[in-house]
Amino acid sequence: GVASNLLSTPGINAIVVNYRDITDRINADKALKEQMKEYLELNKEYLSQNEELRNSLNQIQKINTELQKAKEKAEESDKLKTAFLANMSHEIRTPMNGILGFAELLKKPNLTGMQTKRYVDIIQHSGERMLNIINDLIDISKIEAGQIEIKNVETNINQLFDNLYTFFEPEAVKKNLELKYDKTLPADKSVIITDKSKLNQVMINLIKNAIKYTNEGSVSFKYELVNKQIRFIIKDTGIGIPQDQSENIFERFRQVDLTPMKPEEGSGLGLSISKAYINIMGGKIWVESEINKGSVFYFEIPYNPIKTDDKNKNIKKMKTSPDILSNYKILIVEDDEISNLYLKELLINSGALVEYANNGIEAVEMVQKNSDYDIILMDIKLPLLDGYEATKQIKKINSEIFVIAQTAFASENDRQTALKEGCDEYISKPINRDLLFEKIKKHKKKN
Ligand code: ADP
Repeated sequence: GVASNLLSTPGINAIVVNYRDITDRINADKALKEQMKEYLELNKEYLSQNEELRNSLNQIQKINTELQKAKEKAEESDKLKTAFLANMSHEIRTPMNGILGFAELLKKPNLTGMQTKRYVDIIQHSGERMLNIINDLIDISKIEAGQIEIKNVETNINQLFDNLYTFFEPEAVKKNLELKYDKTLPADKSVIITDKSKLNQVMINLIKNAIKYTNEGSVSFKYELVNKQIRFIIKDTGIGIPQDQSENIFERFRQVDLTPMKPEEGSGLGLSISKAYINIMGGKIWVESEINKGSVFYFEIPYNPIKTDDKNKNIKKMKTSPDILSNYKILIVEDDEISNLYLKELLINSGALVEYANNGIEAVEMVQKNSDYDIILMDIKLPLLDGYEATKQIKKINSEIFVIAQTAFASENDRQTALKEGCDEYISKPINRDLLFEKIKKHKKKN
C-alpha cells in the first residue's frame, strides 16, 4: 500500500510519497491471527479441562463424604456388633445358668414335689430359650449366606390364626393382656399358597414382641386383602417405638442398642429375620408406632388363593394315640446318652419294641443278626462308622428297613444329603414327638 501526504511549503509544490513494505506486517498479522486462533482453541480446551477438573473435584468430594459416612457406619456397626456379642453372651449364659443351676438343685435330697416341679419348669423354660437363640443364630447365618429357600405349600391362614391364638393365649393371660384375633376371609378363601413355616415364624415373632413390649391393654392380630396382597396387622397397646427408630429395628445388630434397660429376653434378631423372610416371599414389612401408646406392625405378601376343588386334599390330619406304634420294631442308633434317654421317653408308651446301638458298626451287626427291624432312627454323627455309611450297609442287608436320619442341624441341605445318602426320612434334633410319629407313620402308609 502507499501512503501519501501533501507537502505545502511556500514555493515548493511537492508531494512526498512514502512507501512502506507491509508484507511483513500482513504476514505477522496472519501469524498473529493464526496464533490467536490456536490460543482460542487452547483456551477452549483448557476450559473444558477445567470443567473436567471441577467435575472430578466434585466427584472426589462426594467420594470423600461417602467414605466419611461409610467410616462412621463401620464404626457404628462395630459398636453394634460389640453390643450384640455382649447381649448374645448374656442371652446364652442366662438360660445356661438356669439349666445348670437348677439341675444341681434337683440333686438335693428331700425335695418336695412342688420344688421338683418348679425346678424342672425352669430348666425346661431355659432350654427352650436357649433353643430359640440358637435357632435365631442359625437363621441369621443362613440369611447372611443367602441360603434361604422358599417352600411354598397350601396354607390355611384361618387355621394358622387359630393355632397362634391357642399358642399365645397363656402368655397373654399371664401378663393380664387381652388377646384378640380376627379372620376376615371365609374358610374356602383362606387357603393360600405360601411358605407356611416362614409365615408362621414371622407371625410368632411379631405377636411375641407385641406381648413382650406391652404391659397393659391388648394385643390383636388380623389380616385383610389389599390389592392382591394379603396384609397382616399386629397391634399392641405397649411401650411403642421412637419415630427415628422405626426403620432401624429391622436391621440386624441394631436392636440390642435400643432398649437400654432391656428387662426382656431375646436375641434382638427377630425383626431382621422377619424382614428377610418377608422380602424373599415377595412382600414388605413396616411399623407405625407412638411412644407409650402402642405399635402396629404391618406386613404384606402376595395373595395366591388355591382353587376350591383341590382344597380338600391336605386337610386330613393324623392323630397320635398312645399305642400307635405297637408291632413296630425300632432300632435307635445314637452314641449320646441323653439323646438316647430322650428318644426312649418319647417312645415309651407307643407300644413299640425298641432296641439300641451305640455306633454304626454295632448297628450293622445288629441288623446282620436280626434283620426284621421296621424303623431305624439313625444318628448321623457316629463314632467308628457314620450314619450314612451304616445306612448303606444296612440297606444292603435289608432294603425294606425304613431309615430315619436324625441330625443336630436343621438345614434343608442336611435333609437333601440324608435322602441322597439313602435314608428314607429325615428329622432334626431336638426331636418333636408328633413329628417323629408322623414320619414313622409315613412308613406304614408305604406298606
Ligand atoms: P428382640 O425383641 O429379641 O430384642 P426384635 O428384632 O424382635 O428383637 O426386636 C427389636 C427391637 O424392636 C426390640 O428390642 C424392641 O426394642 C423393639 N420392638 C419390637 N417389637 C416391638 C413392639 N411391639 N413394641 C415396642 N418395641 C418393639
